[in-house]
Amino acid sequence: LSVDKDSDLMHVIHVTAEMAPIAKVGGLGDVVTGLARACLSRGHTVDIMLPFYECLPKQQMTEFNLICTYDSYHDGKWVQTNAYRAVASGIPVILIEPANQFFKGQRIYGGSYDELEAYLFFCRACLEYMQKPRIVLTIHNMEHYGECRKEQFGKSGLDGDVYATTDKAVDDRTIGHNPERLSLLKGGIVYSNAVVTVSPSYLKETLGSGWLSSILIKYRDKYNGVLNGIDTSLWNPATDPFLPAKFDAQSLAGKIICKEYVQRGLGLPIKSVGSGTHVKGKVPLVVCITRLVAQKGLHLIRHAIKHVEELGGQMVVLGRASNGQVEKEFESLATLHNQGSSIRILLIYSEELSHMLYAAADMVLVPSIYEPCGLAQMIGMRYGAESKDDRIFGGGLSVLFYYGVLGMVPIVRRTGGLADTVFDMDDKSKHEVSNGFVFEGIDEKSLSSAMDRAFTFYSDKPDEWQKLVMKIMQIDNSWNNAAGKYISIYNSVRSH
Ligand code: ADP
Repeated sequence: LSVDKDSDLMHVIHVTAEMAPIAKVGGLGDVVTGLARACLSRGHTVDIMLPFYECLPKQQMTEFNLICTYDSYHDGKWVQTNAYRAVASGIPVILIEPANQFFKGQRIYGGSYDELEAYLFFCRACLEYMQKPRIVLTIHNMEHYGECRKEQFGKSGLDGDVYATTDKAVDDRTIGHNPERLSLLKGGIVYSNAVVTVSPSYLKETLGSGWLSSILIKYRDKYNGVLNGIDTSLWNPATDPFLPAKFDAQSLAGKIICKEYVQRGLGLPIKSVGSGTHVKGKVPLVVCITRLVAQKGLHLIRHAIKHVEELGGQMVVLGRASNGQVEKEFESLATLHNQGSSIRILLIYSEELSHMLYAAADMVLVPSIYEPCGLAQMIGMRYGAESKDDRIFGGGLSVLFYYGVLGMVPIVRRTGGLADTVFDMDDKSKHEVSNGFVFEGIDEKSLSSAMDRAFTFYSDKPDEWQKLVMKIMQIDNSWNNAAGKYISIYNSVRSH
């Protein structure tokens, strides 16, 4: 990344539970890595502090060193703690390893230890390591409210009773929550030097309603909405090691190869066999890559599967459920559809497959009920056919004409960061920025109508589709802009 260096340099440490690709479950991991890389390239010193999960892929880290051993407190005892340094994905990391059972097991979340206590321990151990930090808290998802009993909080060495008031860590809007309990997120908002959330629309939504709205209103002056970017070195179709063919503006043919590779690999026909929607035998491939949780609009994903089949398209869902009931439901859908010729439901986590699917997709679907930012739509646009390069209007265009319909268009529900990044094709007031298909309601009809419009556009207006793809290619969703905003916030809280 060639960006100008900042003049006033800082040491920024991200304290996080996830980091892509070594410890990624969802977007949090992507965001930490992307922001850290962007700050590094602006000249700052950056570290990512992460629990030393037993399941970390050590072969993906280099320059591994034990830097110090110190004691950190937990539940009446001092626990010996090792801090290691390493480099992962080009970024310095500090791994915190307590000599107890915390962070053991084969997955990032869902181990057999008490997670709340383990992360409380981790936070304290990080603060002890840093000694005198100023703190910016980023809220990635308000739903993770950090409900905590006073005695549990006490295990960190702080007295839970001291924080059990509504001006500190007890929320005054207790809908669905126990007023006797603390909210770690609320405490974080009160005591941080600044607070950020991951899109301007989510900032408005969180101030307007919800559990912590009153405290956010009270601290409005230190609360900022900064739209996430995507890490354009991990998400780059011109260099992506997971793709069977690379592509960019000069060699768009690679996108066709990726689509056919995925179709062949999953046993989907390359050309439309039925009488459904298709263009010169081409069939649109809809991709939905998501954690399968209520927030993501599970009933809408199920409906999309049915509707894509009715429309004669193809759809691949890549998702993992953390809830047994949801897993069962999607397993039966997989059994019903996976032998057919249009739908594949893959209930696994696979970074590799996710890259291939974004590269293969004609449409990326994100039907979330709420979405603080959402990365899938941005990654999809980046893999629509990469490049902001003007030369696209040379060689690239002729490839587009040769292959017919090519490139990816997002279909999303209008909420949070999705509303900040995707603007409807038929919204005349947003004509300048329109880049996809947007629906409002959480009912099946709303989704169907957006999908119908996208399919009709794909089949009836291939030239317009190509123009739209051109436009999507010009959009810069990289961290360049957003990192600058984070740097100004970091600067604003510095003690001079
Ligand atoms: P969230 O943070 O709520 O999970 P985001 O859209 O911000 O949602 O980020 C999701 C990230 O996780 C994206 O990079 C997406 O590609 C990835 N992802 C989600 N589910 C899977 C999966 N089953 N396999 C691989 N990657 C996944």
